[in-house]
Amino acid sequence: MFKIILELIIFILSFVGTITLIFEFIKEYEDIKSKFLDWRDRECKIKCLCNHSYSINYLWYRDKEVCLKCPKCNKVKRIQLDDKTFETFCEVWKEECKNR
Ligand SMILES: [Zn+2]
Repeated sequence: MFKIILELIIFILSFVGTITLIFEFIKEYEDIKSKFLDWRDRECKIKCLCNHSYSINYLWYRDKEVCLKCPKCNKVKRIQLDDKTFETFCEVWKEECKNR
């Protein structure tokens, strides 16, 4: 009889342990997820920009820079690009000019 009770207690304890572990895991996952979202929203974003969408204002071919402008609050940001990215921006920019 005592052995059965002991086994039952062990079973309950391991069951509770497993549940706790799962909850711990979910909590950890949520933590990491929210940390990542935080990072994506705050730190990975180019500093000093607002949360509105930006449009290409100018392209400086000489410096390989793009000037982005927020139409809503008129914030302007110059960003230096690598060759390949700059080419992509040029393509987009040309298309945009055509459509104006
Ligand atoms: Zn803005």
